[in-house]
Amino acid sequence: MTSMNPTYEPADVERHWYERWEEAGIFRPEYRPDGEPFAVVIPPPNVTGSLHMGHGLNHTIHDVVIRRKRMQGYAALWLPGTDHAGIATQNVVERELANEGLTRHDLGREAFIEQVWEWKRKYGERITRQIRRMGSSCDWTRERFTMDEGLSVAVREVFVTLYDEGLIYRGNRIINWCPRCGTALSDIEVEHVEENGTLTHIRYPLTDGSGEVVVATTRPETMLGDTGVAVHPDDHRYKDMIGKTVILPLVGREIPIVADEWADPEFGSGAVKVTPAHDPNDFEVGQRHGLEPVLIMDTSAIINENGGRFAGLDRFEARTAIQRALEDEGFLVGIEEHRHSVGHCYRCEAVVEPYLSDQWFVAVTELARPAIEAVRDGANVFIPKRWENTYFHWMENLRDWTISRQIWWGHRIPAWYCPDGHLTIARTDPDVCGTCGRSDITQDEDVLDTWFSSALFPFSTLGWPEQTEDLARYYPNAVLITGFDIIFFWVARMMKMGIHFMGEVPFRQTIIHGLVRDADGEKMSKSKGNTIDPLDVADEYGADPLRLALIQAANPGQDVRLDMEWVSGARRFGNKLWNATRFALRHVEPGSVPADGGYPDDPGAADAWVLQRLGEVSREFDALCDEYRFSDAFGRLYSFAWSEVFDWYLEMAKTTLDQPEGAAATRQTLGVVMRDLLKLFHPAMPYLTEELWQHVVGEGLLAGADWPRVPEVSGPADMDDVQELISGVRRFRADQGISPRQTLDLKVMPSLDPWGADVVARLAGVNLVGVGAAPETGHTRVVTRRLQGFIALEGVVDLEAERARIDKAIAGVESDLAKVEAKLGNAAFVDKAPADVVEKERSKQTEFQGLLDKLRAQLDAL
Ligand SMILES: [Zn+2]
Ligand SMILES: [Zn+2]
Repeated sequence: MTSMNPTYEPADVERHWYERWEEAGIFRPEYRPDGEPFAVVIPPPNVTGSLHMGHGLNHTIHDVVIRRKRMQGYAALWLPGTDHAGIATQNVVERELANEGLTRHDLGREAFIEQVWEWKRKYGERITRQIRRMGSSCDWTRERFTMDEGLSVAVREVFVTLYDEGLIYRGNRIINWCPRCGTALSDIEVEHVEENGTLTHIRYPLTDGSGEVVVATTRPETMLGDTGVAVHPDDHRYKDMIGKTVILPLVGREIPIVADEWADPEFGSGAVKVTPAHDPNDFEVGQRHGLEPVLIMDTSAIINENGGRFAGLDRFEARTAIQRALEDEGFLVGIEEHRHSVGHCYRCEAVVEPYLSDQWFVAVTELARPAIEAVRDGANVFIPKRWENTYFHWMENLRDWTISRQIWWGHRIPAWYCPDGHLTIARTDPDVCGTCGRSDITQDEDVLDTWFSSALFPFSTLGWPEQTEDLARYYPNAVLITGFDIIFFWVARMMKMGIHFMGEVPFRQTIIHGLVRDADGEKMSKSKGNTIDPLDVADEYGADPLRLALIQAANPGQDVRLDMEWVSGARRFGNKLWNATRFALRHVEPGSVPADGGYPDDPGAADAWVLQRLGEVSREFDALCDEYRFSDAFGRLYSFAWSEVFDWYLEMAKTTLDQPEGAAATRQTLGVVMRDLLKLFHPAMPYLTEELWQHVVGEGLLAGADWPRVPEVSGPADMDDVQELISGVRRFRADQGISPRQTLDLKVMPSLDPWGADVVARLAGVNLVGVGAAPETGHTRVVTRRLQGFIALEGVVDLEAERARIDKAIAGVESDLAKVEAKLGNAAFVDKAPADVVEKERSKQTEFQGLLDKLRAQLDAL
């Protein structure tokens, strides 16, 4: 065993343990062959990504959960993996190509996909290296990728099964189209933003010359695709116009006025234009009245030949050109400012266009029903529970899920078309049409939404559709740990797919944690420039201090405001733990503490006290961790370690370690207490505690050790009194500027146990004098719960000078207090001054009053 460095250096400590843990197979659930299974899957990060602080928090929580369970004897599995992240990854590779002046079309589909795989091989390990660096104890022998062979088989199986069941279908519908990414998006991939726009009012003249109808629109360019005008059937203003036609300005098309309840008589003129190919509601109106959809844009949002003279213009150029033409030709009624919600692509922020196209959909209503039931029945429980309402609201209002994407990187849709119009859906690529046997079939060009494969993650990663041992053992997973931002993208879909294909919920509990915000509470974002890179923090302060700082703030559902001051505080704690261990190892033979047990049979009073507290705190800690209240759990443990063990017990231990009797029990206690602290802190600070374990225990690895089982010990009843007496004397010394080396006389009544008397005498630096009754004067009092102490002042402080000093101080505070009270007595001030100013004066008043009471008590004691 090497000797310990004098200081805690995270960079040294965090260099080597990870490989040791992996080589020892500790991260594999087989490490505990008889353990009850406890499995969790990682929310698979994008293969193109790098670790951000959100991962930092999510992975710290995962690792704290899984390391503790492993030490408790469970067959703990944290299954890692990455997501192919269709659009995101394709965008990255396309940007690289653009630097060379190329597009994906220049390469062609096959060469482009090969290029993405190449890119994935080159950079895909960056994020997994970063996950390791942070100490996350994933079982890398089970690592998966959403496009690996096994997961691709699972995707095919699910697609074909749902198709056969009628739950996947192809349809011509209005979808959300991103003209930048060139693909359809699902509803939740659209981010709605309130923006300033305009409302353009246009007059449509009746064909018979008997009048006009005025309509209003935020997207006037879509008028090129109008094939009708709708009015409410009960709207008397338009009663005689229903069935007539209008001439569409700029285009000249004759279009009908139809009666439909979609038109809202309260909004604008009560008449609305109908553009079936570019608005989901208009599409439905069009279907009801047989209005033909006319697409007026291509997939890049450029006006096509249906736009007549506006063809070739971008949609936003067309908007102004059309407004101008309407004005020139006398059709413009007016343009007004208008604030409204505009949908943007969640990947590239381009404005999303409602667009009529052929897409694949999952019919979700039938899949959602049992997923709602499962949460209502408690088969899955959300923590915190309030997220269940969000989940229900979402699941009960679902529209069918658009799953096809017009990109190349992803799971290609297993559908083949033959020139005779037959469709073949197959698990393995067919050579011929399944209906007529023609061999000139072509596969659908589209790929599946990335979330289609991640929805299967809890079972596809365990080998499904094969009935593997892993699947039987680790499905359902114990928990799922994630941020609220992907409840809809991921949690809800895993619930639907898991229940449908496995007949059981994918996980028993859903733990929802908050966001990491900056120290001012702002959301971290690249555009604001307030992101903090966890890897930078790990380099500067250590991964362990960052983990401790994050977990100390992590209660379910609460956002974490990350202040670097906490991380440096966590590092100071690491240093304190390091120094406490060094102190212990001056008295305890290094490497001599057993990995388990070894609690003393006959502990001294202070030893019994610390063992009692260790037992109580470790049981409270366990209870809080079981409720995922990590902030509370680690807060409790941290303050026990710091203020009870480091501040009190180590000092008290000094009083017996140099004495012939009691030293053995204290050495033994010191050893097991430090060892159990290392165990309890291991889930949060794995590297540091492992390093210290090697010095204290000296064999095996802490990561594979057993969780502490502290026996119930009864400590002395008067420990609080002893501590309060010592603190009281120390406070008196500090107030009076008396050197710790000057021995004071302390009278205590009724009386202290001999061990307590000894500890007080040594730690407070006093001579204890027995006393029958309280002394009248010449003493200052220290009161504890059951005792009173009297410090003799004679010869310690100059009573006259002290009295004069206190009198002067009292006079000063009294004058300050009078000023504040005068202000607060002034009704004009209290009524008119801002609330926080008045509040400030009130708190000054309380502060001065308290100070005054204290000074007067000091004076009385003299
Ligand atoms: Zn986009
Ligand atoms: Zn055919």
